[in-house]
Amino acid sequence: MNNKFRVLAVDLGSRKSKIEYFDTRRQWLGGSGLAAGLFEKYARFDKEPLHPDQPVIFAIGPLTGLFPLMSKTIMSFMSPYNGQYAESHGGGRSALALKFAGFDALVITGRAKRLTCLGFGANEIHIQDVHYLKGMDIFKTGKTLRNFKPKNPGHRSILRIGPAGENLVSYACVNVDTYRHFGRMGGGAAMGAKNLKGIIISGDSTHDLNQISVKEYNKTYKEIYTIITQSNAMHKYHNLGTPENLIPLNELKALPWRNLQSTHDPEIESISGEKFAQDQLLRQVACAGCPVGCIHIGLLRERFGDDHEYLYRQVSYDYEPIFGVGSMLGVTSAPGVLTLLEDVEKLGLDAISAGVALAWATEALEKGLVNEEQTLAPLKFGNVGAYQQALDHLALRTNDFYTELGKGALKAAEKFGGEDFACVLGQEMAGYATGENYYVSQALGFRHSHLDTGAYSFDQEETARDVQKSIDYMQNQEYYRILMCSMAGCLFGRKAYPKENILKALNSVGHEFSMEELDETIRAIQAHRWAIKFKTGFKPEEVKIPKRFLEVETWKGKADPDYLFRLKDEYQKVLQDVAAKHSFEKDREKEIEDT
Ligand code: SF4
Repeated sequence: MNNKFRVLAVDLGSRKSKIEYFDTRRQWLGGSGLAAGLFEKYARFDKEPLHPDQPVIFAIGPLTGLFPLMSKTIMSFMSPYNGQYAESHGGGRSALALKFAGFDALVITGRAKRLTCLGFGANEIHIQDVHYLKGMDIFKTGKTLRNFKPKNPGHRSILRIGPAGENLVSYACVNVDTYRHFGRMGGGAAMGAKNLKGIIISGDSTHDLNQISVKEYNKTYKEIYTIITQSNAMHKYHNLGTPENLIPLNELKALPWRNLQSTHDPEIESISGEKFAQDQLLRQVACAGCPVGCIHIGLLRERFGDDHEYLYRQVSYDYEPIFGVGSMLGVTSAPGVLTLLEDVEKLGLDAISAGVALAWATEALEKGLVNEEQTLAPLKFGNVGAYQQALDHLALRTNDFYTELGKGALKAAEKFGGEDFACVLGQEMAGYATGENYYVSQALGFRHSHLDTGAYSFDQEETARDVQKSIDYMQNQEYYRILMCSMAGCLFGRKAYPKENILKALNSVGHEFSMEELDETIRAIQAHRWAIKFKTGFKPEEVKIPKRFLEVETWKGKADPDYLFRLKDEYQKVLQDVAAKHSFEKDREKEIEDT
């Protein structure tokens, strides 16, 4: 099988594009590995994060379109949130559309003169002026862009940004096919800085299956498909979906409430997964190529007349967004949560970051650090109407206060006070107040995501505070997750894809690896990703873990500061050692010249 990646490179400044062949599958695998390899090639390490020359990259994996749940696209970019190399993962139809357009990756550089939509398929590319979409929300933008390419909607993917992305809010997201997102670290602003309102990918060709060993492929596919569909492995994701976690985490005293002032609340019943399923659930949908269908769509009704007149809308919900704009903001009604999620969606904000930032703002207002002239809305835990106003201000950067808040809660706190209760661990926290291992994992994690290592599970299993055991767990988990993300696979599919199954799947479609070779490649990708993160300014010793994380009661009681900071110190040394194993291409060239 051709070992090179086929990459579409588009320069929006010059309106030129070309197809490149980038080495090699053996070196980069795909997904996260490929995104990092391309980033090293295209990034301008000497320029600011939103400089037009910085690349925005979308990469898929070697199993995309060939195996179930291999449905993700990896977006990589220089994050406007912290100025560092960042990855964000999205699903929908994006991965399959890119595959059937015939590309392993898309690299976008340059800044368009006017607001633009990029459209491409296997044999065509358009860079279209869409200045009339300026300020338009995600839904209306989607409707307009769908009309550009009305045929074969099942093979087409539409990525777009809302007002938050255009206004360069540091945690603006990219919406994918309405119900999925490149959510975290500000991919929406990275697109906004390029004047890029949307991308339409038409998966309008077939792909070359010549190298597939049909017998081996069918056998491996069947094995994996059977685990996914006939075991219990994926049942929870389809049934209640990730909101199934709300009640157990609340019972465990690990669900952040009201800006992490507590971790448990009796009001949980009104926003639990069960409550959503019973009263709001309309249907489940799936990313292309996934038989699970974990995306839960809720029905939101809004009465607009004295008679029984209703507007209705369909809003997707998951555990993290319910935590972000629900428990964290003290909103305890399912329709209230959906109302805020719909606004977040329209504006193109990341639901977790926006919710956590507004939770900080609410407490800052309560404590008198800011006033209502600054917040422009009577922020109060549980006040849905006030949060609706605040979300608009956040996306539109209405005043100085919201401009600062749009950079993140900790940045706003540095200016207005209240750093102790900014619930930020590298970025706004995800919904797991499980203990020290998780706090350190998110604070120092590669993506500052709960998915970097899954240390929230380790916290729930382990009462012992053992630094080495925790580091071993995080390192093992990170290793596996880099493998899975270099396949651009959905991390919900972990049980179906142990390392052995990934190897079998790769070999069955013509990507010959031994286990040792695969291991070597993953270790190299791991070192490379960390080296880039350090090169773009990551200083783990400067990452703060605010006091609130030490004050709140978890199921283990309060966090132990001695253990937490020992773990942080030791883990940062491990990451520095991992990064040191990589030397950049230019450094290598220099070494060759020197010798
Ligand atoms: S499990 Fe859910 S998020 Fe993962 S690929 Fe399937 S539908 Fe998409």
